[in-house]
Amino acid sequence: MGRVPQSSIIVVGNEILRGFTVDTNSNWLASRLFQCGFPVRLITTVGDVDDDIVSAIHQHVDRAELLRIFVCGGLGPTPDDRTYVALARALNQPLVYRRDVGAQMQNLMFLLNMAARRGTAALNAGNRKMAMLPASAILVRNGAGMAPGLAFELGQGRYLFALPGVPHELRAVYDDIERSYLSGERADVVRELHYRLAPESMFHDVMQTLEAEYPDVSLGSYPQTETRELILRASGPNPERVDAVIAAIRERITQYQPVA
Ligand code: ATP
Ligand code: MG
Repeated sequence: MGRVPQSSIIVVGNEILRGFTVDTNSNWLASRLFQCGFPVRLITTVGDVDDDIVSAIHQHVDRAELLRIFVCGGLGPTPDDRTYVALARALNQPLVYRRDVGAQMQNLMFLLNMAARRGTAALNAGNRKMAMLPASAILVRNGAGMAPGLAFELGQGRYLFALPGVPHELRAVYDDIERSYLSGERADVVRELHYRLAPESMFHDVMQTLEAEYPDVSLGSYPQTETRELILRASGPNPERVDAVIAAIRERITQYQPVA
């Protein structure tokens, strides 16, 4: 059997760590990556601190099972945006000025009438910073903003990506990446059982046995406080194996019947 594709996310930003911003990006990405057959194995959140971004990148790149790694946020023009610099350090590459990116920014400034408002079409220091990219970066178009997304080949069919932090830009860049770098895999199947008013602890023994019998199926219990339902959710690459786990729960838990 070949490798089961897995992915990971590094979220960058002090605003996340300090509670000013809710990290919706990794939630959105995790859902999309699961749906296209690259379930997320690991999410790391770091602040706008060079050393922390670099060590998170090293940590993820060192894990060979992570075939697609996404670094999100910190691509902008201000000094707290450090992702390109950290990527260059982590991948041991020089930062080089990309004339094509500079030219694209100037086009965008004309299109958005920014040149007229600023009184010049010259790129300022912040703009130039956004065009200083690690040497091997492959550009991914950002139809929604200025900072391009980046792709890096890591070898052995693995890739690392940099995505902008602004949620609608992240989604636009990811859509392009999904088409080019994430096709051809099958999503895990998901099956659920819903129980009404059933205590979680009742499922302990059955779940523990099933975990050992079906190591290829992920099985979890998720109480819903509002509806007072307990959801048991099984997922995995092989539909028959996932169905077998669901059937075993129905069979072995006799005190309660699932409502769905
Ligand atoms: P910019 O060019 O705006 O600086 P950027 O790629 O550098 O873009 P950030 O500076 O990290 O991105 O964040 C830009 C905006 O997006 C901020 O308002 C920030 O709060 C929001 N944002 C960043 N990361 C996330 C996240 N993980 N989830 C939701 N919103 C986020
Ligand atoms: Mg920023």
